[in-house]
Amino acid sequence: MLDCYIALGGNLGEVAATFDLALNQLECAPGVQVALCSRVHSTAPVGNAAGPTFMNAAARLVTGLPPLAVLDLLQAVEANCGRTRDTHWGPRTLDLDVLFYGREILESARLVVPHPACWYRRFVLDPLVEIAADFRHPVKQLTVGELHARLLERPLHVSLAGGSAELRRQWIESLEREFGDVLFSTWEAAQALPREPTLVAWLGGTAVTPRDAHNQFLQLPPVSRVDATGAAAPFEFLRQLTQSIRG
Ligand code: ATP
Ligand code: CA
Ligand code: CA
Repeated sequence: MLDCYIALGGNLGEVAATFDLALNQLECAPGVQVALCSRVHSTAPVGNAAGPTFMNAAARLVTGLPPLAVLDLLQAVEANCGRTRDTHWGPRTLDLDVLFYGREILESARLVVPHPACWYRRFVLDPLVEIAADFRHPVKQLTVGELHARLLERPLHVSLAGGSAELRRQWIESLEREFGDVLFSTWEAAQALPREPTLVAWLGGTAVTPRDAHNQFLQLPPVSRVDATGAAAPFEFLRQLTQSIRG
């Protein structure tokens, strides 16, 4: 048996009632107990297609199920609660994500744990810190309380690393216009500052081989780096990152 932390989200229908239904279904599933649940928080939606205000919560499950069986269960509960999968990041009745599965680090096509975005999303950490402040992120090596506190510091500081200098200049200009309260920098400039950026977005390597590019990414500070190169629309991804850390 181990502790598995999950995030609950939704913005269609009676979301708080849907969360209750979902937690009941999880509690009834063989091999799972719902040990603790946070309060329900309301959050401005992130991204353009997201729709109305979101509700978010976090829960601690105690389970003997293997990780993919937990994901299967969460997806079955989402489907029972009326989740359809059309627009990615679109409005939804229920979204259930695995945040942590014990202290395991897993990366498969269907499941990445710890959830790659859990450490910089206010809408995840605000509820999670209520129930797991002392839980240590197995990759970042900071507790949930420490990760949460990083996002409360002001000014928030987002730094862009890699990519072309011209692209970074253009994107920083656009981001500054939209997020007047956030400090944006190039990674070169940020290194001279006393405090590490809240988040360093990696825009891709100038190196010849993918392995060298990956090594360049790994030279960024582990606590704040996020790889934006996999995003289908990197600028939109940066906007969403910024909204996510700001809350
Ligand atoms: P995000 O993961 O950025 O919060 P999302 O929750 O909107 O986005 P979904 O459309 O719900 O994304 O899920 C897409 C796929 O993500 C799922 O089919 C699932 O296989 C995969 N996935 C990978 N890691 C996880 C995880 N830790 N928890 C839940 N799903 C995951
Ligand atoms: Ca999600
Ligand atoms: Ca999901």
